[in-house]
Amino acid sequence: MADTEKQKTTDVNVDVLIIGGGIAGLWTLARLHQAGYKAVLLEANALGGGQTCYAQGIIHGGTKYALTGKLTASSKAVADMPARWRACYEGTGELDLTAAELLSDAHYLWSTGHLTSRISGFFASKVMRSRSTEVKKTSLPSLFQHKAFKGQLYQLDEPVFNVLSVIRAIAEPLKKFILPIDKNSLQAQKSAVMVTSRDGQRYTFHYQSALLMAGEGNEDLIARFGCSTPAMQRRPLKMVVLRGGLDDRIYAHCLGASVNPRLTITSHYDANGNIIWYMGGQLAEDGVHKDDIDLIRTAKKELAELIPWLELKQPQWGVLEINRAEIKKVGSSRPDSFSIEQHGNIITAWPTKLALSPALADALLDIIRQQEIKPATDFSLPSWEQVLYADFPWNEVESWCD
Ligand SMILES: Cc1cc2nc3c(=O)[nH]c(=O)nc-3n(C[C@H](O)[C@H](O)[C@H](O)COP(=O)(O)OP(=O)(O)OC[C@H]3O[C@@H](n4cnc5c(N)ncnc54)[C@H](O)[C@@H]3O)c2cc1C
Repeated sequence: MADTEKQKTTDVNVDVLIIGGGIAGLWTLARLHQAGYKAVLLEANALGGGQTCYAQGIIHGGTKYALTGKLTASSKAVADMPARWRACYEGTGELDLTAAELLSDAHYLWSTGHLTSRISGFFASKVMRSRSTEVKKTSLPSLFQHKAFKGQLYQLDEPVFNVLSVIRAIAEPLKKFILPIDKNSLQAQKSAVMVTSRDGQRYTFHYQSALLMAGEGNEDLIARFGCSTPAMQRRPLKMVVLRGGLDDRIYAHCLGASVNPRLTITSHYDANGNIIWYMGGQLAEDGVHKDDIDLIRTAKKELAELIPWLELKQPQWGVLEINRAEIKKVGSSRPDSFSIEQHGNIITAWPTKLALSPALADALLDIIRQQEIKPATDFSLPSWEQVLYADFPWNEVESWCD
């Protein structure tokens, strides 16, 4: 017998096995533990290191989706999310996010001068009156207190979080239930997963319910679990990062001519504590058809047009490529809300938005409750290697352009 075949395997009985340690898997892990389930999470890289660390951290309340002037299915699904996340941050919610960092209590929407009439009509609509407030000239954030700013600014009830601080706040108390694995070693059966941990130990997890919550990794997992659906789609984005001598922090969508914001800027800190601007919206969606130099040229043009008074001191520009991963549905280009597909005790889920993780966890908990799981009575975990946390992708950009 080969050495590897002789290697000891540790058997672990769990109620629920979660695969994938992004925001969705971790939020669900925490909720399951609260509800008394014995749950373990397997992570192939670092916690938060998939789409989550690329997210801008905006807890949408639906405004972005209501830009057409109608309350769409997307905006209804996210309407409750800001209040739920805020309650967690204040220590009164379903999870304890008091240790997380709130970057901004609100996100803003601004219009350039020539779109002012359109935006006024939109914000006067019944749908939007409860969700947004026009910011008076005297209370504008410092960047917009410039005589050259001719547009209007609306404050949206949408907090912005440092997403990796959220990941840490959720995962830290649960670390002993999270195993770093070699994803290529994973073999799945109807009620057991065999896997090798990153430090080479072999485990068999006997589960009653398995949740595939690995973002883009779900595609491979669906096949490993012997399922042929759901189908997954990737929506590529090219985000732009600006660093160097920035004094203002800005959290805002600039309204363009389409349903999508023309530009969405959030502000974060690099590893040296300097402010960076992280830019998405239509810029990032169109960016996938451009090379990096061309995209950076477009970003410079956008800033010069939208914030002409901005003086940049020794700016440096970077580009980050990332795929959004979501369910693929016939007849719709992007899902409105989170998605779940169940095949017996194997459940595949995507949150679609970071903001929707609490709603996704509610729905998964309902399904698990209906499965009438018999609690694993002999749940005991060996002590294993600790999982790592991801860093922000802008700290890993290798080439910056002037
Ligand atoms: C540029 C960008 C900006 C965004 N901004 C926002 C925003 O402001 N607000 C918002 O609400 N949403 C935003 N989103 C969407 C949001 O980031 C995602 O919906 C959310 O992070 C998805 O979380 P997740 O846990 O499903 O997946 P991920 O974050 O992708 O996590 C999946 C995890 O699974 C692990 N994994 C993969 N394969 C395996 C395997 N085989 N075994 C074990 N582990 C595995 C990965 O390492 C990773 O840790 C943004 C997305 C992008 C790309």
